[in-house]
Order: sequence, then structure tokens, then C-alpha cells
Amino acid sequence: MSKVVKFGGSSLASAEQFRKVGNIIRADKDRIYVVPSAPGKRCVSDTKVTDMLYACYALAEKGDAFETELMQIKARYDEIITGLSLSISLEEEFATIRENFKNCAGSDYAASRGEYLNGILMAAYLGYQFLDAAEVIFFDESGNFLAEKTNEVLGARVREYDNVVLPGFYGTMPDGKVKTFSRGGSDITGSILARAVHADIYENWTDVSGFLVADPRIIHNPVAITTITYKELRELSYMGATVLHEDAIFPVRQSGIPINIRNTNQPEDEGTMIVESTCKQPEYTITGVAGKKGFVSINIEKDKMNSEVGFGRKVLQAFEESGISFEHMPSGIDTLSVFVHQPEFEGREQVVLSTLHRLAHPDSIEIDADLALVAVVGRGMKSNRGVAARVLASLAHQNINIKMIDQGSSELNIIIGVTNADFEQAIKAIYDIFVKTRL
Ligand code: ASP
Repeated sequence: MSKVVKFGGSSLASAEQFRKVGNIIRADKDRIYVVPSAPGKRCVSDTKVTDMLYACYALAEKGDAFETELMQIKARYDEIITGLSLSISLEEEFATIRENFKNCAGSDYAASRGEYLNGILMAAYLGYQFLDAAEVIFFDESGNFLAEKTNEVLGARVREYDNVVLPGFYGTMPDGKVKTFSRGGSDITGSILARAVHADIYENWTDVSGFLVADPRIIHNPVAITTITYKELRELSYMGATVLHEDAIFPVRQSGIPINIRNTNQPEDEGTMIVESTCKQPEYTITGVAGKKGFVSINIEKDKMNSEVGFGRKVLQAFEESGISFEHMPSGIDTLSVFVHQPEFEGREQVVLSTLHRLAHPDSIEIDADLALVAVVGRGMKSNRGVAARVLASLAHQNINIKMIDQGSSELNIIIGVTNADFEQAIKAIYDIFVKTRL
């Protein structure tokens, strides 16, 4: 068996955290492929090394002095080296970084040094082989990740060794320049590595014990999700449940490798398993409930729109011309509403309205702002009677007015539109009915 284990920034923020990670890795001989993030926050008021690197590089790019900031970053690593009594020095590495900063090597290069240096430390600490991600993770000249080339080269290189530490978050472009994924991208590196080595499991170690049924900022102490499918996760992450980078699912999903979210600070917790498919039914009918505020509904009315061929296309074209993507489009016989992100729409609203008039000739257009969308997600809803009824009844009991209802054909989720002001209460009502009272 082989396991890829990725550790997030808070799991590697200090020597003490490194020790916990070391214990986790040594507790299982299958944990042979390790992907570290850069050191994260040691406490709430702390700064992540990645953010320190961006700030330091911004100074270098302007031609300002950056030595103090660079030495503060070095101090973060030196603290770990001393704390673990490692016999390595990063003097030379920092001399190279200083030179490259002066030569404006790019902010991606700067940010990537967080993972690169932490990888060196991790390899020294574990006695594992260090492999620079710049040699094995590839992007094209426009910065798009090259999945197949990476899979081939990475797979072949890693097989040369018994164990490997591969820093997360970055790779290289054809001109040799370092390129990073978007923030939180070490999750993606872990997934890419799991696919390349045909790992049996991709363990993603962080500072929470997996996904929770609802946002803990809204629900006090919500229950954890033990098993979730990739599809359900996609719905929930899109709606704001952020434990794992959204794009981290794709490489492992392609090869059917499960992801296990685990907690470095509570390694005894089993965490959440993310799988392609499962016969395990969720404990509470729903797998999770999540949502987002800040939507606008543009309600378009036109007599007999139902029989006008191409009406929907013209409406959507008006949004497309302004570069606005739409979220949902519920319709009636003579009405059609388009839900879009408020911040995206606000600056362009009058242009969109006039384009709508020009292209679709509606009778009237109304705008409803400050809306929230709530997604009730769960594979257990399929072919299960009364789920929508319970969702709606729970909202009615709380006097919450429903602006929109949308259930996809997959029966995997029900999306409800409410006002921003009702958002938290709506999540609570749905959580209570399914989880607390288990109706
Ligand atoms: N260190 C990077 C960040 O802070 C990448 C990661 O942690 O996954 O976004």
C-alpha cells in the first residue's frame, strides 16, 4: 500500500507542529509520499509565510529595501530548525532567494519559496528524499496546468525513490519560470502526486476533523460528515464549505482514489472520507447544508415568452456580453429570473438592462437584490419522499419567505433563495429539522 500525505500550513507552523506530523508519518509505514505547505499561522494574529513572501517581494519589485522582511521569513524557518535540532542551514538558499528577488523573478517564484524551503526541512527531518516540484510539475506558456505531462514525468521520477517529499503549490512553465496554483494549491499538488503514484489513498491533514454538516460560524458545534461523494463535495464547496481546494478533486477523481481529510491536532479522529461512490447512506438524509450571500435576481417578464423560440438565449446573451456568468435561471410561463453574483453585476447593471431590452424586448424587468442561496445537499435525497417538503416546512415555521426553489435533475441538491437577512436563520432551520430532530 502507498499513501500520499499532505500537510497544511497550520500543521507545519512550528517545530512542535512538525513533531506531530513526524509522529503521524512514522505511525504508518505506508505514508511514503509527503506534500508540505509553507508554515502557516502559529496563532490567530500570526502571518502565514506565504503572505510574508508576497509582501517582501512586493518591496523588492518596487526597488525598496526588503532585507528586514526577508530575515523575518528566515527566522520562521530557523525557529523550526533549532526546535527540531536539525543540522542544516538555509544560508545559501536565502542568498539565492535574495538575488532572485533583486532580479525580479516574479511573485509566483517568491510565494513558492514557502513550500520549497519547508520541503527541504521536512525531508531532512524525516530522512526522506527531497524532490523539487519545479522539476516535475508543469504548466504551459499561458499558465495552464499540464496534467498528462506531469503525470508521466512525476510518476517516473518518484518511482526512483523509496520515499519522497514534494513541496506543494508550484511547478514550472516552459521558459523555466516558477508558476503557482491559486491560493491553497498544495492540496492540488497532493492530488496530482496521488494520481501519479497510483496511491491507495490521499490523506489531507489539516486543522479540522473533516467536513461539517454546516458552517460552525452559524451552527454551534455541528456534527461531522464521515463520508461524502466527490459530487456532493463539489456542491458544498461551491457554496462556501472550504476545507479543500476545489480543484484538488479532479486528479484523484480521475483514478478513483479516495481523499481522507484528517486533523493533525487530533490524529485519532477518522475525519471525512471523500469517495467516488458509496453504499453508505448519510446519517441524516442530508449530507450537508451550505450557502452564500450576495446574489441578485433579475426578473424578466414578457407575455407569451414560453412560445418565443430563442428567448432564453437572447436573455443569457445579454449577460454574456457583459462577461457575467449566471448561477440559476428559474422560469414561469411569462417570467424568467436570472440569478447572478451581486458584486459582479453591480458595476454593469445598466449596460445589462439596456442589452436585455435591445436583444429580448421584454415587457418589464425588475431587480431583487441582497439575496442568499442555500444549498441542501445529499445523495440520500434521491428517491426519498418528502425532503423538499421538510426543507420548506422548516423555513415556513421560521417565517422565512422563499424567493426561489431549484432542484437539479440529479436530485443531489435543492437550492433555496432567501434574503440575505434570513440566511443564517434558514441554515439553522434546515440543520435543526434534519440533524437535531432527525425528521
Ligand atoms: N501556501 C500556499 C497558501 O497559503 C499554498 C497552500 O498552503 O496550499 O495559499
